[in-house]
Amino acid sequence: MIRTAIYPGSFDPVTNGHLDIIHRGKHLFDRIIVAVSKDSHKSPYFSLEERLSFLRTALKGTPGIGVDTFSGLLTNYVKIQKACAVIRGLRAVSDFEYEFQMALMNRRQNTRFETVFLMPDERYTYLSSSLVREISRLGGHVRGLVP
Ligand code: ADP
Repeated sequence: MIRTAIYPGSFDPVTNGHLDIIHRGKHLFDRIIVAVSKDSHKSPYFSLEERLSFLRTALKGTPGIGVDTFSGLLTNYVKIQKACAVIRGLRAVSDFEYEFQMALMNRRQNTRFETVFLMPDERYTYLSSSLVREISRLGGHVRGLVP
């Protein structure tokens, strides 16, 4: 049986923190689908095509990792992909409350998968896509933060 996990998000843009989580997830699952949400309430800075292209380039040649998009409920997408888990990253306590709510709400919609939380390397605990966008916008360098 192939164990598939979905790693959903906006990836606006993908950071080294996201990649760290994906590589950790690979130790637990046979296949990970990095799924970019088309229906996020956040209005993205990078277009969907750009975000997909960054992910595909960063993950090229990594076996067992796919990149896809989804719209509508994540729980429906999990069913369609026959996934057994959703991966989310936890950087700090500040992530916890939102992630906890989401995980339990998703479980209400579909009880046949688990949400698995992974913690990145300490180097990435302060890293977020929004900070990367802000630094870049203000002319700072983002080397070491994004692929
Ligand atoms: P969303 O809009 O769904 O929060 P993001 O692309 O911001 O999408 O994040 C996707 C997932 O990756 C979330 O679970 C988030 O907590 C996690 N994540 C984001 N940045 C990091 C990081 N630096 N280290 C670990 N996990 C992270």
